[in-house]
Amino acid sequence: MDRFADAREEMVSRQLEGRGLRDKRVLAAMRKVPRHRFVSKKLSEHAYRDMPLTIGHYQSISQPYMVALMCELLELSATDTVLEVGTGSGYAAAVLSELCGHVVTVERISELAKNARDVLGVLECNPVEVHCIDGTIGFPDRSPYDAILVSAGAPAVPEVLKHQLKSGGRLVIPVGNSRMNQDLLRIRRISEQKFETESHGGVAFVPLVGEDGWSD
Ligand code: SAH
Repeated sequence: MDRFADAREEMVSRQLEGRGLRDKRVLAAMRKVPRHRFVSKKLSEHAYRDMPLTIGHYQSISQPYMVALMCELLELSATDTVLEVGTGSGYAAAVLSELCGHVVTVERISELAKNARDVLGVLECNPVEVHCIDGTIGFPDRSPYDAILVSAGAPAVPEVLKHQLKSGGRLVIPVGNSRMNQDLLRIRRISEQKFETESHGGVAFVPLVGEDGWSD
């Protein structure tokens, strides 16, 4: 327990259950992971508010609801191997680690990757691999993945990510032709060459920057 336990509980009941999220494993993970540890001390009082918060380098930790929604859409089970592109603070990676067997997360900004590695290392969450690379090309070393979460907005779906999914695997990614607004897509790999895409509404993520993303 910590002094934010009540705030965290209220976040889950109002922001998540109150908006219709029902996946019990996701709700339990959101109840457990101490979001305040992933923001600066100055912002910790705001950590359980219904909004993204700055983490420096013009990047942000996503709104709690968005993290929970994306995790629900990934349909994770306890033995899954998951890739996250866009570690940022490491918060979503910590939540993912509660939901699956192995998490690999990649971040292009080295200081953010280092900070995330440090905080994930001291918390009682399951082990997470953090790498500092351009995730628009995925992370082939651990592929294929049961699920891939992209935590930044892409101009288009990077083909290489689709092909790092197992058959039956899910890719959740915000995609849009402006740097500011996207549609949240879930792409399911049906077979070797067959993919199904569905949209889960409008979202606003920081841009995915890299070889197969937006330019710097
Ligand atoms: N999941 C994060 C949210 C981070 S915001 C959290 O829970 O805090 C998105 C992050 O994606 C930023 O840190 C940004 O630097 C990173 N990013 C953008 N383009 C990237 C790329 N091509 N590869 C890896 N990380 C990228």
